[in-house]
Amino acid sequence: MTFPSVPRGITITHPLSIARAQGARVWDTEGREYLDFAAGISVLNVGHSHPKVLAAVRGQLDQLAHMCFAVAPYQGYVDVTVELTRLMGPAPHTAALFTTGVEAVENAIKIARAYTRRPAVIAFTGSFHGRTLMGMSLTSSSLVYREGFGPFAPEVYHSPFPYEYRGWTSARALDALNQLLSSRVAPSTIAAMIIEPQQGEGGFVPAPPEFLQGLRAICDAHGIVLIFDEIQTGFGRTGKMFAFEHSGIAPDIITLAKSLGGGLPISAVMGKADVMDGPVPGGMGGTYAGNPLACAAALAVFEVMREEKLVERAAALGTQLRTALLDMQKTHASIGDVRGLGCMLAIELVKDRETQAPDADLTARVVDAARDQGLLLLKCGAGKNVLRFLPPLVTLEADMARAIQILRAAFRA
Ligand code: PMP
Repeated sequence: MTFPSVPRGITITHPLSIARAQGARVWDTEGREYLDFAAGISVLNVGHSHPKVLAAVRGQLDQLAHMCFAVAPYQGYVDVTVELTRLMGPAPHTAALFTTGVEAVENAIKIARAYTRRPAVIAFTGSFHGRTLMGMSLTSSSLVYREGFGPFAPEVYHSPFPYEYRGWTSARALDALNQLLSSRVAPSTIAAMIIEPQQGEGGFVPAPPEFLQGLRAICDAHGIVLIFDEIQTGFGRTGKMFAFEHSGIAPDIITLAKSLGGGLPISAVMGKADVMDGPVPGGMGGTYAGNPLACAAALAVFEVMREEKLVERAAALGTQLRTALLDMQKTHASIGDVRGLGCMLAIELVKDRETQAPDADLTARVVDAARDQGLLLLKCGAGKNVLRFLPPLVTLEADMARAIQILRAAFRA
């Protein structure tokens, strides 16, 4: 699907014209209904058009739509940072608000560099951190995010991500990292390591706890800031409020965006107060950073998450879906791997379980067949052969059952 007024660099997964949305459902302009298991790429954990989010934004619109926190502060911004740091737990933490995910990533790197006064950054293969110069320099999940856009930001190094299904155990990935640190980049020059605790665009690959614990130990030994990019994993998606809670360690900084705003653009960098104070006064900001409407939406999101127990809900929905996917794997040889944390699940489709050759073709056909029957899904992974499931966390058990039924039918088709 293309539009003469839109350049080809912007592509579309589902050739539909969407008119409206509610909860886990969207409707196109012809009135057809779909279960939306893309959720705006993990933006709508509280569901589309949640009445509390809408009411909060409408109310805020009547009071103050824009000010710029750096010009003069307003309470909504402060309240969001208070809520976030409360969720993060004991050590003194602070949070800075921005607008998009990649802006949070850029600022996390700026903070780490200013704090350590070091230049280098380690990222991991298959990662996605966004589309700005630093974002795409850190990204390696697919060529399309980089092709034609170089030169990239210097002093960014990639080390293998622990992708167990494809032979990268934690031990092997930690060996590779240690080799990088002893042959190419001196640890004393490294400001930060940045990792998604479960990769998003790269194929929904969770990093095993022992790998993240290994990273923590290396960072502690060398004074390196450990950044978890929780832009896709955050806000309950994995059955914990933050995915780092599965790992038994805590990072120094996390980046958040997507579901924080329930559909409005807002992102955050949160971390240990001394690290966050790396940049000099005035070193961070942005005209729209922590816009009042987006802050009102985020405050409503916190309330909805609590009232509707969406973190627990993610765990329950995830169990329902995982059970069905594992069952399908028994009868479909093409389902090579079923993986993910909580309600951030995926299946990797292969031509043959022995060779594990990616089956992008089948993946695309399942996405199309599912849409024809009323279920919107997304692909991911470097081989475009991973089907990911991002149902809003308000999805009812019956709707999840219906989605599973459609998925089974799509495989048969
Ligand atoms: N980091 C991760 C882990 C992401 O999944 C994304 C978006 N898919 C980004 C960063 C970039 O976020 P944004 O598109 O809001 O800039």
